[in-house]
Amino acid sequence: MGQDTFGRAVAWPGVRTSELTTPALIVERDVLDANLATMSAALPGARLRPHVKAHKTTALARRQQALGHPGFTCATVRECEVMAAAGLGADLLLANEVLDTRRLGALVAGGARVTVAVDSPETVAAAAAGGVREVLVDVNVGLDRCGCAPERAGELAGAARRAGLEVRGVMGYEGHLQLVTDPDERKRRTGEAMALLQAAAGDVGGEIISAGGTGTHRDNTWATEIQAGSYALMDTAYGSVGHPFGQALSVLGTVVSVSAGRAVADVGLKALGMDHGLPAIAGAEVRRCADEHTTFVPDAPVRVGDRVRVLPAHIDPTVVLHERMHLVDGDTVLETWPVDMRGW
Ligand code: PLP
Ligand code: MN
Repeated sequence: MGQDTFGRAVAWPGVRTSELTTPALIVERDVLDANLATMSAALPGARLRPHVKAHKTTALARRQQALGHPGFTCATVRECEVMAAAGLGADLLLANEVLDTRRLGALVAGGARVTVAVDSPETVAAAAAGGVREVLVDVNVGLDRCGCAPERAGELAGAARRAGLEVRGVMGYEGHLQLVTDPDERKRRTGEAMALLQAAAGDVGGEIISAGGTGTHRDNTWATEIQAGSYALMDTAYGSVGHPFGQALSVLGTVVSVSAGRAVADVGLKALGMDHGLPAIAGAEVRRCADEHTTFVPDAPVRVGDRVRVLPAHIDPTVVLHERMHLVDGDTVLETWPVDMRGW
């Protein structure tokens, strides 16, 4: 069962994609399952801690769990809450700094296992005060976003232990290397970043060295676990780097206008994450996107009313704009999944 635009229950199975209201997220089941299987073969069991922030969908996380991955990575408190409520809270890593830890404390008290990233005395104090029990020391390995300086990690771990927290190890996300296209350069620079993290891990102690993403999942042999997320659904930015994953997700649109040399679909930047650039359409050149429209030049004539599949350049900010995604086999809708980890 799914829901229509007004929240009414609808029996989706058997519905054709041509009957969906557009724009709509559609996920090719075969491509999704091949992506999940490929990653699970490369990083079996606890070697992969799938990041849920790209898909924000517990139904998809359940498919990942069924492949044998015991823990998950989350980016927000709400993602942790929804994962735990769905019975997927056995070992969650909140790979972000959190100051307002009240809801996390409630989750832990309720039986979920949530480990939180800390990179400052303030985030250590917030974790302890909020009832969090376990942390990872987040180390800056060159992304220059969150993470303490590597040489400060040991001292922060000491502060965390004095505050009564269990320090499970370190994390250090090499996000600046995910889209490096040259494999040799990516491997070399990932090694340099992980040398910083390993040195910090020696100072911190604990079992876990958590790092990596879809882009470096094959290069990063130094981390004990890889936090990849985009590989499941993929986007054209990652697609252009040459990874063994297919484009499972697209935004289904309807051609609403055709004129000499161009066509317009009802998929605009309110339905697409655009920070990695224009989307792609097979057999067409995408010219521009506006609030509600994508203008493209098709190789072969299209007609008003035709359906098109628009491939986003960046998956995370695309998914979050939609309330549900439809698992499809060709033009048949198999299941409809709420994007239930949206919101704050
Ligand atoms: N870990 C952290 C902390 C991240 O912020 C991200 C993505 O931004 C990832 C891992 C990797 O995710 P992906 O596989 O989607 O690149
Ligand atoms: Mn992303």
